Amino acid sequence: MPLAPESPPLPHRAQAHLDAAAQTHAWSRALWSVLIASVFALTVLVLFLHGAATLEGPHAVARLKPAVAAAVAESAPTDPADDADERAPADPQSLEIDGETAFPAAGQSARAPGDGSELTDHAPLRKYPGKAITLLTDTRHEYAADLLVKLDSFMVQANNTLADILGVRAPAKPTQLIVFETQERYQEYARDNAPGLINNGGYYDGATRTAVTYRYNNSMQLYFHELVHVMMGEQFADHSFSRYTRKNWPIWFDEGVCEFVGSYEVIGSGIHVPGVNKGKLAYLVNALHHNSFVDLPTLVRAPTERFSGASMNIYYAESWGLVDFLVHSPGQKGKFTQYFQHIHGGEDGITAFKAVFGGDLVALDTQWRAYIAERAQVPDGDVRLFNGQSVDDWAVHEGGQWQVVGGEIQATGNSNHNYLIKSELPVGDFSFDLDLNLARGTAGMILGNNFHGEYPYYFLIDVSRDAVLLRRASSASMLEPLMQAWADIPIGKWRHLRVSVINHVLRVEVAGREALAMRVDRDTYSLFGIHVSQARARFRNLTVRPERSALTAGEVERTPAGGPIEAAVPTLAPKP
Ligand SMILES: [Zn+2]
Repeated sequence: MPLAPESPPLPHRAQAHLDAAAQTHAWSRALWSVLIASVFALTVLVLFLHGAATLEGPHAVARLKPAVAAAVAESAPTDPADDADERAPADPQSLEIDGETAFPAAGQSARAPGDGSELTDHAPLRKYPGKAITLLTDTRHEYAADLLVKLDSFMVQANNTLADILGVRAPAKPTQLIVFETQERYQEYARDNAPGLINNGGYYDGATRTAVTYRYNNSMQLYFHELVHVMMGEQFADHSFSRYTRKNWPIWFDEGVCEFVGSYEVIGSGIHVPGVNKGKLAYLVNALHHNSFVDLPTLVRAPTERFSGASMNIYYAESWGLVDFLVHSPGQKGKFTQYFQHIHGGEDGITAFKAVFGGDLVALDTQWRAYIAERAQVPDGDVRLFNGQSVDDWAVHEGGQWQVVGGEIQATGNSNHNYLIKSELPVGDFSFDLDLNLARGTAGMILGNNFHGEYPYYFLIDVSRDAVLLRRASSASMLEPLMQAWADIPIGKWRHLRVSVINHVLRVEVAGREALAMRVDRDTYSLFGIHVSQARARFRNLTVRPERSALTAGEVERTPAGGPIEAAVPTLAPKP
């Protein structure tokens, strides 16, 4: 049954709570740049890295208009099916919006390049009724059916987690998630329904309990974040975010809880909530390391503006970090629930914070920093990046098709450079290993860092037949070849690759033999990835072995990045 007759037009802007603005901005610019400049292959090469900026994309908080929100009649979406057989129907219903089939042919051209290429240009939204959520999507069926299972699992686990940390269980209400395959389709939809939010990664429409987002370049974490907003709306009986306009309302609390409950880890082929958000933890460690950490007294008073624009990343990361600390630290046991009760009862956010956690915010800040440093200590031994069953804890950037088959990641690349990226605890020294089987084109490895204010990708190791190339990325437009070398990489055979950084020397080894080595000036790494470009490749046994934590407990300062480095290994001039 079409949804349109049951749903009023979505309210304009009012309830729209959005997520992921400035970084998505960067991607948006990149996308258009790529589209316009696609005939210029070299330009594309320079631009492709833009999308990296959406990594772990934090979010901006929209100012909401409660009066408008209240005026819009609530309309519950179609009841979720209670019969499991109705999940992921083979012939999903198409959705009509405002009497018009969503996204008709006219004007539909841009699509995530190479991703979901089996889609027609005008795939309608299909409806997947789950147990706890209804998914509306134009993504390919296989992806959507799998996503629905994870969304249902998430809704149950997230409601339980919220009940644990807030001490009260809100009734689960019918919830919808719209996931568009591409940003273009999201933007078309947002243009009609939430015009102020077209450059965001997603938003939450409280009137219809509908979160809206898109797949391309967004991670599942963003979907989950939005869904926790739905649950928080239930907790506060406020789906229009009118509480955000209250004096001293703790924005960190709402956004931090959404990040905390929305953080997951992959276990087998499923998800577990809540997981440690390693990307956010890396932001915090780097901020401590470089003295750009926002102190606790500032964070708990931060207005919505801090959660957008240039300060967005760090405020979202710290909000996650503060919730993580207050929920898990033994010294704070039970207090988080009390704090929720205070603000739920209408108390001022700052007054309540001091009443519950103590008036000495500076002392609490010190404890928090020590907790973060402790939490960021890397374990001994290998860290398995890929569990052989799922890449749901990786993020896809710039398309490509990434499938898990028989314990391997099988990748098909398009004309972009396509990335699959994983955040891990930040390390100073490490080795990153994998087996690669290259069928054609160029594949390789990526090293980077979640660091506020800095371009996330540092180094790319390109592997093609019989050659490796090291490149350095210092911005989206600065991608510099550093060193190239012959290496024994035959087509269609497995090769073991290792890239290590030890004492600022980056080494690439192929099948146990050093291919190249070079001094590098980066201090900290928390992003590990693989990439393909016009390639087909298989990857397996992806592991990182940390050799040194980026930050030791109690230490908040180390040698600044970019300092002088001894030249035991020559720094070679860039290849022309
Ligand atoms: Zn949010």
